[in-house]
Amino acid sequence: MGKPVYLDHHATTPVDPRVLQAMLPYFSEKFGNPASRNHAFGWEAEQAVEHARSRIAALIGASPREMIFTSGATESVNLALKGVAEAYQGRGDHIVTVVTEHRAVLDTCRRLEARGLRVTYLPVDREGLVNPDEVRRAITERTILVSVMFANNEIGVIQPIREISRVVRERGVLFHSDATQAVGKIPVHVEEDGIDLLSFSAHKLYGPKGVGALYVRSRNPRVELVPQIDGGGHERGLRSGTLNVPAIVGFGEACAICQREMEGEGQRLAALRDRLMNRLLAELDEVVIHGSLKHRLPNNLNLSFLGVEATTLMMNVKELAVSSGSACSSATPEPSHVLRALGLPADLARGAIRIGLGRFNTEEEIEYAAGRLIEAVRKLREQSPIYQTMKEKLRSASDAGRQNC
Ligand SMILES: *Cc1c(COP(=O)(O)O)cnc(C)c1O
Repeated sequence: MGKPVYLDHHATTPVDPRVLQAMLPYFSEKFGNPASRNHAFGWEAEQAVEHARSRIAALIGASPREMIFTSGATESVNLALKGVAEAYQGRGDHIVTVVTEHRAVLDTCRRLEARGLRVTYLPVDREGLVNPDEVRRAITERTILVSVMFANNEIGVIQPIREISRVVRERGVLFHSDATQAVGKIPVHVEEDGIDLLSFSAHKLYGPKGVGALYVRSRNPRVELVPQIDGGGHERGLRSGTLNVPAIVGFGEACAICQREMEGEGQRLAALRDRLMNRLLAELDEVVIHGSLKHRLPNNLNLSFLGVEATTLMMNVKELAVSSGSACSSATPEPSHVLRALGLPADLARGAIRIGLGRFNTEEEIEYAAGRLIEAVRKLREQSPIYQTMKEKLRSASDAGRQNC
């Protein structure tokens, strides 16, 4: 058997061959340390890093000096949340975030709670969306930061970032967004979107693993941060440690490609995604799509086939690399916190598979994936004596639900 069709681009993306080509000279040939100020090896590396910084900043409408390089989005989020919490501890001790955030945000918030801060976790509606009015109500005199992800890594739902940032900044509170799934896929612009801190990562946008960035607003307002890693004072003292030059060069190239190709690629992927979805809906019954279809990344599909467990389904379609729940929590058997936040019953949440299309997926691969999923779901349902009973139970439950609304 050849390799499975890769449909898990929310977990990571392959390095684009153009990105790899751009990186290669920076391993053995142009290997200098950009902090070496006294010779050409250092200058060459520094120039490459600054060129990459400009390209990365351009993709999000920032100025290059507002970008801090990190090891990835997890570190960026940690620096943003912990750095703000420490720098503004004289002003307040309250953070507002959302239940469907990535664990990078949620676990960092837990850590801050253990240090004595208070965190409000806002709910989402059945579509996975945060209500800006709830953000407004959650903000108090003690609030220093609101953190709302741009797009969700499981259900691809895009939050109303501009409405939320307007509410947050009206109150003079800082606004951070984990935009790891959004940057390079949909337009993200820190000025137009009213963002003060923004986290993202190269390996989700066809760059290498192990490098990310944190955007830190330098004026209107100027954001203060307490560094979380001390040392040689790199990155304006906010993140010490020798820069990963080849990775940063690749990150820059990846962002430049996204800037040029994002719009066309988004349209192509949305069309492929819709084609896959429509075939599944046409050829199978009791398919439930999770999260808003309107406010959604072009490459995401997250759905359950009633009566079919995600893990069983995936074992039966080894030709497809998809994910159940969230990749980060797939070691634990509990249904994903994101799907539970949508109010899904546990069995439907456990049945959910996440499909993330990407740059190199072809039409043939998507048709093949649709065919394999349809075949496997039919087979598993035939083998499942409880499928018919479940189907009736769900029908009456959803009828009752409708009457209640
Ligand atoms: C992947 C991801 C992260 C973590 O990024 P790393 O670069 O792997 O640390 C954080 N948030 C979201 C939304 C993600 O999708």
